[in-house]
Amino acid sequence: MDSQIKHLHQQLVNKQITCTKLIQEKLDLLQKNTHNTVNSLLNKSALASAAKVDAKLKNGEKIGLLEGIPFGVKDVYMLQGTFTTASSELLKNYKSPYTATAIQKLLDAGAIPIVKENCDSFGHGSSSENTIFGAVKNALNIELVAGGSSGGSAVNVAKDFTVFSIGGDTGGSIRQPAGYNKIYGLKPTYGRISRYGLMAYASSTDCVGPLAKSVEDIRIILNAMSGKDAKDQTSINSKEIDKKAISDGKSVKTIGYFKNFIENDAIDAEVKADFLASIEKIKTSGIEVKALDFFKSDILVSTYYTLAMAETASNLSRLDGTNYGNRIEADNLIETYALTRSENFSEETKRRIVGGNQVLSQGFSDEIYLKSLALRDQISANFDQDFKEVDLILSPVTPSEPPKIGESLKDPHAMYLSDVYTVGFSLGQLPTLTVPQGTVT
Ligand code: GLN
Repeated sequence: MDSQIKHLHQQLVNKQITCTKLIQEKLDLLQKNTHNTVNSLLNKSALASAAKVDAKLKNGEKIGLLEGIPFGVKDVYMLQGTFTTASSELLKNYKSPYTATAIQKLLDAGAIPIVKENCDSFGHGSSSENTIFGAVKNALNIELVAGGSSGGSAVNVAKDFTVFSIGGDTGGSIRQPAGYNKIYGLKPTYGRISRYGLMAYASSTDCVGPLAKSVEDIRIILNAMSGKDAKDQTSINSKEIDKKAISDGKSVKTIGYFKNFIENDAIDAEVKADFLASIEKIKTSGIEVKALDFFKSDILVSTYYTLAMAETASNLSRLDGTNYGNRIEADNLIETYALTRSENFSEETKRRIVGGNQVLSQGFSDEIYLKSLALRDQISANFDQDFKEVDLILSPVTPSEPPKIGESLKDPHAMYLSDVYTVGFSLGQLPTLTVPQGTVT
């Protein structure tokens, strides 16, 4: 599909539509939708921004490419004055006191945020069912999950409720729902986009990224959000990606894939057949394909979850009802903390806090946490070796199609295992793009 951003920009400039009409149409679609994608609508601020764009156009002033384009924001980003709930009971009434750098850059470019989007609470999940706002329903089949944790963002893009959305990806949360709803989703290189103002889940793999309907739109949004930020010491300088870099496939000479991802009992027959068909197609185009060795699924998943749980237990320790969120008073301070946290965190979040504190505690940390850090180094070294041989690595996003709503919650371990193809790239801090199934050419 072509760039929707460019198409809408032309329509605005040619006065085929007004920005107010565009924004109002999207707000109406979001308001009416039954997929549970909306945590809060930003009607007032969005329409006020649209009026400014219309005034500029009326005066014959030039507008930038992103000016007036409506977008969605996963409800884990600070956007000053808006409810920022992380889809949790604890922060149900919390309002952002400031704006995240990535979102500010989009505001500076004139894009208009219209919705805070439903997601798994604090990014904990692979289905967008772990939320106080009701499970997000898949764009293509409402009986299935949207995927997670950026499920609301993926469905809004897939259904054209937003032109693009900003998700967050720690271990697959942009890529997996993008796959389940057949759109594009990019987890950029770690550090390329500042994390300042993104609620921390696992800081060493958290990434800000776009979901959209074309690679060109992904490129435009990525360029707008990238850059070093004094407020995030892990952020890095990067070069702008020009249009040629993504339209010219000739720079790719060799593609790799992980043998053990495909020759495995856990993968659905259909996903496997589709993937192998894509590989054959690539071979016939003259690109060399190499089968590579990689770590076993259980090692990848347990390394990721050990580190992610450890980091989230530490990051969420500040949510005790003192500075943020619903405080539930008890007889003394310790009891107040305990009651506030046990009543306001979801089962899944508590499972992760308990697990994380366990792997960090004395007597366990050497055996579990430090071992996972060592494994992570080995995973990165494996990637370094692979990229001496191949230009890019191709993988299915998930081993199977999206499950039915309700199924994943019964078996958290099975849900963790469904992240097997995305978490390795997160541990390696590599850029990874989901393309809709059937579009690999
Ligand atoms: N499903 C993974 C998890 O629950 C990834 C989530 C994410 O990237 N935020 O940890």
